[in-house]
Amino acid sequence: MFSDNNDPVGFRNNATHQQKLTASNLEALIHPREKLWFGVSLVWSILIYICLLVTLMLFLFAPIFAILGLFTQGLWLGYLRGNSIRVSETQFSEVYAAAQKNCEKLNMPIPAMYIIQSGGVLNAFATRFLMRDYVVLYSEIVEMAYEQGAEALEFVMAHELAHVKRGHLKKRVWILPALLTPFLGKAYRRACEYTCDRFGAHCVPEGAVSGLISLSAGKHLYKQVKVNQFAAQVYHETGFWVWFSEVLSTHPRLPKRLATLLSLESVSRSVATHPAPEAVYGPTKGQPNKHQASAAVNLGSSKEIGRIGQKLV
Ligand SMILES: [Zn+2]
Repeated sequence: MFSDNNDPVGFRNNATHQQKLTASNLEALIHPREKLWFGVSLVWSILIYICLLVTLMLFLFAPIFAILGLFTQGLWLGYLRGNSIRVSETQFSEVYAAAQKNCEKLNMPIPAMYIIQSGGVLNAFATRFLMRDYVVLYSEIVEMAYEQGAEALEFVMAHELAHVKRGHLKKRVWILPALLTPFLGKAYRRACEYTCDRFGAHCVPEGAVSGLISLSAGKHLYKQVKVNQFAAQVYHETGFWVWFSEVLSTHPRLPKRLATLLSLESVSRSVATHPAPEAVYGPTKGQPNKHQASAAVNLGSSKEIGRIGQKLV
């Protein structure tokens, strides 16, 4: 699967990567709704904790939740660490180098990182157990990096690292009652996703679009997706059930996340100037279908989508 040359897919020499985050631009990348919903969640949780304390129920619930959390998370992490591949300087060294680069930009230490077989699913997640952070990459998205280019993986990785950097996992204990409250917890978590998308796009703007689209269309078909049309689905695929499924979800709809990212100048500029991978031309290599080629690199209406995207979140 891996070629042994130094840097087959541009893991180490991506000149378009952004610089290290300073405290001020880090602050600017935090989505306003994250702060809003965190504030609401904290107040709500404190009220619940006070009620539980007053009624002495806290002494009943706290140990139950602590023991349940310890066992379920401990077993899951035990399985993960026991069966997944630990990324290191000598194991998937290109992935480790990319993690180092992203962590430098985010000004954070590298968390333990693992690759797990995913049965075709492209994704990644961050988790935390006993004050230690972990980032897990699904094998499909790592395969995609080795076969077609590393940008999408590096964007997804930067997104997960941002969860760690922002302390989203660490804060959960303080706002646990809010996270268990219908609608409120999910609203906060969706806002966190927007923040992490921004961090990811700051670190790897050229991977933002392919990273998000591949989560929807898979590691091959994503190249055929017309970016602007997919983003515009937020206006066509609407209705009560679409809305309702989103408000019950921890993640915003993918076209919405895409449209929001396209509203960032760094992303739209990067997509417009980034050369299309050869495979974007479809199965008949060397004979690009004009429509497909322009869909991959031409964001003709992206400014419009970008403006609308700003209103979405
Ligand atoms: Zn996330």
